[in-house]
Amino acid sequence: MTAAAILPSLGLVPEIAVAAIPGDERVWVPQAADVWFRPLLLNTVSGGWCNLLRVRRSGVLSRHRHPMVVVGYVIKGKWRYLEHDWIAEEGSFVYEPPGEVHTLVVPEDCREMITFFNISGAMIYLDQAGQQIGYEDVFTKIEMCRRHYRDAGLGADYVDQFIR
Ligand code: FE
Repeated sequence: MTAAAILPSLGLVPEIAVAAIPGDERVWVPQAADVWFRPLLLNTVSGGWCNLLRVRRSGVLSRHRHPMVVVGYVIKGKWRYLEHDWIAEEGSFVYEPPGEVHTLVVPEDCREMITFFNISGAMIYLDQAGQQIGYEDVFTKIEMCRRHYRDAGLGADYVDQFIR
């Protein structure tokens, strides 16, 4: 029996191998004004997702809490958190510990930043007083993708290739 025949019998799901930065602009899902994400893996089993975040404006993006770990890698541009004195620049690796609250800012002199994030669990959005004003998890991300890909003409099921 070949490996290809054995693997489905073990319940293994297919791999994903794609160009992270897509050739088709419609693959970027609008998140807010001048902010997009590009889904790479939407993991409904462990609860989390991998994506690229692309920002083409400066200033505060969001204040948020991570209930679980986040890691990231800056592909282009730079950004920082108001709560820390380091700057994540092109080529930087970032680890965000569970429980941390921080405020994402893109500096004035950055026209575009693109960062790969592996987000476990959820993003909890907070106002300045620390009150929750929203959240995202893998299921809200899937819904955003479905709506956008349907409206953009790629078809709602375009997102399915990234869901595991
Ligand atoms: Fe964060």
